[in-house]
Amino acid sequence: MDSKTISPVRNRRVNVRTPDVMERVQAEVAEHYRSEVVDKLRAREDGLTIGKTTVRLTKQFGFCYGVERAIDLAYAARDVFTDNDIYLIGEIIHNQEVNRQLADMGVCPLPGDSAVDEIEKLGPDDVVIVPAFGADTPTMNKIKERGCHVIDTTCGDVMSVWKRVRKYAKDGRTSIIHGKSSHEETRATASRAEGKDGKGNYLVILTLEDCDYVCDYVRGSKKDKADFLQRFDGGCSQGFDPDVHLFRIGVANQTTMLKSETEEMQRRLATAIRERDEAAGDSGGDNFQVFDTICGATQERQDALFEMLEDQPDLLLVVGGYNSSNTAHLVEIGEKELPTFFIREAKCLKSLEEVLHFDLHQREEVTSYSQVLLGDEPVVVGITAGASCPNNLIEDTILKVFQLRGIDEQTVRSAS
Ligand code: SF4
Repeated sequence: MDSKTISPVRNRRVNVRTPDVMERVQAEVAEHYRSEVVDKLRAREDGLTIGKTTVRLTKQFGFCYGVERAIDLAYAARDVFTDNDIYLIGEIIHNQEVNRQLADMGVCPLPGDSAVDEIEKLGPDDVVIVPAFGADTPTMNKIKERGCHVIDTTCGDVMSVWKRVRKYAKDGRTSIIHGKSSHEETRATASRAEGKDGKGNYLVILTLEDCDYVCDYVRGSKKDKADFLQRFDGGCSQGFDPDVHLFRIGVANQTTMLKSETEEMQRRLATAIRERDEAAGDSGGDNFQVFDTICGATQERQDALFEMLEDQPDLLLVVGGYNSSNTAHLVEIGEKELPTFFIREAKCLKSLEEVLHFDLHQREEVTSYSQVLLGDEPVVVGITAGASCPNNLIEDTILKVFQLRGIDEQTVRSAS
């Protein structure tokens, strides 16, 4: 990629969703990611039992509407811009397999952390795909400045959060964002929380401990500004002053957080603000607002897992990219109840006993041993997958479970 001369600034968002393009693209997407076994199993409430092995899928799993749309648009960009260089900001979604497919199709990833520097080198003939999580405003401004063609796949649910935090900024409220400060979506949301004039403020909190720390500060029971700023370094707006900017707040969240945790944070923050205001004799204040921005797809997948756990399987496999937030929350739900493994692909099931999986607590891939699949007793394996996991990876996992239990692929295909 050479540095290119640019023409004056233009907004060059391109609509590639024409019926003929979409027809071609959807056939290609289906070929890459569809699975007949998964489609059939989805329709079977009681799962698939062969011999003494049963595999059950949750009612909702895998690709969400936002991810499907983002992938369709990325494939459509390749279909329409056959002679142009196409770049992708970071990853289209958090799934290695999908990102690898796009790279094979000649879509070149720009490192998310330094996308602005890389975009500086692009010109008007280049195409930039914005991923489903969106991109922060400096990155979007730079693309516009370079006059590139833009294929924006940002999910509508993410844009709803932006609308909310922009409104908070306009009203002079600080956005408290429940999310991970390094996550692409949260970075994009935080940049919108600065408002159109850039004067808005935000604070990103990830854990209930973070939330309690903020609540204590709000109540005045623990006030150490230097410690506060050190704790939230990189997760708050420039010039953030907790003594000023925690007075009037609005809460939003990354769309893929654990719903129960987000609700608990909302309750704790609301209580802290109310108690502070009552103590100051201001009980009618309007210093707290909340807007639940967990997306429908995330919630459906969490609810479906809770439903499966009412009739608990012996083992749960959660399939998805290790950096996928919504997938990690499915693992959190599962591991409270039963042996649960977060795997990125079928190959992680090394044998009946040995599983390579991502440990959320150690934050690394580890090997663990489980006795659940061993022996001759009937076994029920539950499978779910995050919103960025394609069905072909889920199919591989189903086939691998049966294969390890001595049941070959052909038998599974005919039985499903
Ligand atoms: S997980 Fe939710 S916010 Fe993210 S792409 Fe899917 S529908 Fe959109």
